[in-house]
Amino acid sequence: MSKTKSKKEIETANIADPSQWNFGTKCLQAGWKPKVGEPRVLPIFQSTTYKYEDVDDVERLFALKQSGNKYTRTGNPTVAAFESKITELEGGVGAVATASGQSAVLLAISNLVKAGDHIVASKHIYGGSYTLLSVRLAKLGIETAFINPEDSIAEIRKAFRPNTKVLFGETIGNPALGILDFEKLSKLAKEFDVPFFVDNTLATPFLVRPLQHGANVVIHSATKYIDGHAIALGGVVIDGGNYNWDNGKFPDLVEPDAQYANTSYTQKFGRAAFIAKARAQFLRDFGACLSPFNAFLLNLGLETLHLRMPQHSANALALAEYLSKNPAVNWVSYPGLKTNPNYKHIRKYFDYKGGSGVLTFGLKGGKAAIRSFVKALKVAALVVHVGDARTSVLHPATSTHSQLSPKDRLAAGIPDDMIRVSVGIEDPRDIIADFEQAINVSIKGGK
Ligand SMILES: *Cc1c(COP(=O)(O)O)cnc(C)c1O
Repeated sequence: MSKTKSKKEIETANIADPSQWNFGTKCLQAGWKPKVGEPRVLPIFQSTTYKYEDVDDVERLFALKQSGNKYTRTGNPTVAAFESKITELEGGVGAVATASGQSAVLLAISNLVKAGDHIVASKHIYGGSYTLLSVRLAKLGIETAFINPEDSIAEIRKAFRPNTKVLFGETIGNPALGILDFEKLSKLAKEFDVPFFVDNTLATPFLVRPLQHGANVVIHSATKYIDGHAIALGGVVIDGGNYNWDNGKFPDLVEPDAQYANTSYTQKFGRAAFIAKARAQFLRDFGACLSPFNAFLLNLGLETLHLRMPQHSANALALAEYLSKNPAVNWVSYPGLKTNPNYKHIRKYFDYKGGSGVLTFGLKGGKAAIRSFVKALKVAALVVHVGDARTSVLHPATSTHSQLSPKDRLAAGIPDDMIRVSVGIEDPRDIIADFEQAINVSIKGGK
């Protein structure tokens, strides 16, 4: 089992400076810094509005001349504490939390593109992001070229156009489980001078921090490992503060915004221009904000991220090793297996050399075997979700990818025998015993 701690984590921090604290300490204490007599635990500020006495103060808020809360759609102290914690964990300059992961992807992209613009995206991405790009945004006049991130630089280069505004990929692609070669893709993003967006949902900042490997914006469905208990939807976009928006391609970040007293985001917010604009425009106009209650739950989830991710990774590795030896299993795909072609990227980019909790495998015996296997599970459950502390399984061919033909499914890397497992943090002996007995039932059922 992969138990190696990154060097960073065992170094002693400069304790007087919270920005120097180690990752696990930040999971518990970043974001909410109570003053004397204030609650130790992040409170839920369950209020839509904030009190003011001076008209001038409110006028300054509306002109972006003063920071502060005006209305919970664009800011709330509980939500802000969650945003600030995840900003520290990813190493960015600011974040905006959203109602869901879907709205996080939409926020990040719509902050930069308009009709006539173009996106280059990995084709190995979450189904919802794929339809957002390929159908919804296409209908709004924004075209996406889908690339295989494993192709050569020369091949991927062909997808870029003069009007390309974003390169988009996922750290661990869902469900093919390929790991991005950050060096290759960030080189391409620099060559074409476009920002590199990375959805880091399945890896989390505990395993890898994409901003350290050339990404400019990080996106999460906080619904998955950040929550970790399958209790709340949420999303978040983190600004790396490491892209020069003043390169002629993004005038909306540079030129005055007439709705906000002619503020130029790059002039007023400097390195945090992207995220300031996202809050001021997207939250105001699209309104897909995170609720204070869900921010409280997601913050609570983050408090144990550094404990859960090693256990998810260790359990998934143990199950992957077990399944690799089971003769009723056709194949196993788990990037944390040393024999997996993606393991080299884990070694190169991941702070903690674990492969997260998601694996896939092919079960022998066809649909009947799969049906009896799923039915026989006692610890794991059939659930449309990943990242829960409880183990869950899904058969993509009859669920998330049932609308595709078997041929198209295969092209998307989803053979009909594939079972996707989100390995939880239960005792790994019980998880393995559960899969063993259910596979034994499936061998009978498959006949
Ligand atoms: C689930 C998921 C999303 C969408 O998030 P929701 O919170 O369900 O809206 C986006 N990207 C990835 C990688 C996901 O797994």
